[in-house]
Amino acid sequence: MTDDLRPATIAVTAGRPGHEPDQPLNVPITMAATYVAGGDLEYGRYGNPTWTAFEDALGALEGGRCLSFASGQAATATVLDLVGLGATVVAPVHSYTGTLLQLADLESRGRIKTVLVDITDTAAVAEACLDAALVWFESPTNPALELADIPAIAAAAHEAGAYVVVDNTFATPLLQQPLELGADIVVHSATKFIAGHSDVQMGAIVTADEQLYGVLKGRRDLIGSTPGPFEAWLALRGVRTLHLRVERAQQNATELVGRLRSHPAISEVRYPGFGGIVSIVLAEGALAADLLTHKTRLWIHATSLGGVESTLERRRRWKAEPATIPDGLVRLSVGIEDVEDLWADLERALASLVE
Ligand SMILES: *Cc1c(COP(=O)(O)O)cnc(C)c1O
Repeated sequence: MTDDLRPATIAVTAGRPGHEPDQPLNVPITMAATYVAGGDLEYGRYGNPTWTAFEDALGALEGGRCLSFASGQAATATVLDLVGLGATVVAPVHSYTGTLLQLADLESRGRIKTVLVDITDTAAVAEACLDAALVWFESPTNPALELADIPAIAAAAHEAGAYVVVDNTFATPLLQQPLELGADIVVHSATKFIAGHSDVQMGAIVTADEQLYGVLKGRRDLIGSTPGPFEAWLALRGVRTLHLRVERAQQNATELVGRLRSHPAISEVRYPGFGGIVSIVLAEGALAADLLTHKTRLWIHATSLGGVESTLERRRRWKAEPATIPDGLVRLSVGIEDVEDLWADLERALASLVE
């Protein structure tokens, strides 16, 4: 039904009950640990109508079949579980810290080998792919905001017989559809833009490969890394406005990037040209960066991203953040407030650094 619809219409309409008398317009929250025997669901860990509605919507937006998870990390762990004992995973040096920690943990226990690459160096990535079982990357990367050549990397990885996984959390399916660009699997932290209100922890996997879908669903059934029905309902409510939120956040980010580029306290502005995430490097380094995160009033000092409210943090305050990320880098998650208020708050906080 969603085949010929545009993304904004899919975001609003996918996963709704049929248009029949007395059907609710929105899927209800189904609280069920077990179901009457004889159907497809049987037990709470195997499926839930509220998950299904969310999965239908995100799957339609990404162009595949979706499985929801308790968190982005649970989705990541499930995908990494596809890798055979001792096989190699290629990933960017600048990956999400939780992904890097999972890879390091698996490697330290002898489960896998990890090769970290500069994801912007397509030739080097292609070479690393030669003995890999799985290539995992984000584009844009977190928090360096580098871009990967997804079609070229996918082609090289497939040539070598490796799976291609793209963490699409930063771009969302509205700005980038990795399955169409050649990826086998898309992973999301639905905690971020998808749910969009900083009040839900959830993850998702999307694939157009039926066999992979079956294997991944089998892993979820077995391990039980499933979301709660209420979380799925909230995340679906988030999907309904995803296009509006992403559009506004991007508009605000673009405007702020222009102004930040000419600010004397900032030595570098990183923005991939789309989306709501901007990284700035404070000329005076880590101390100035920490000070900035404590001086803003509208911008909330907090980790995570993709909510309606603007947040910021110095990324290197996390031990797992790679040392190649500048010490004075502050990642901004631009929200959907009025951009003039956001700018006034940032400008005042930046001015107070030199007082
Ligand atoms: C937050 C995040 C994750 C992990 O998701 P959780 O929901 O926190 O488990 C994975 N990838 C990226 C890019 C993220 O920002």
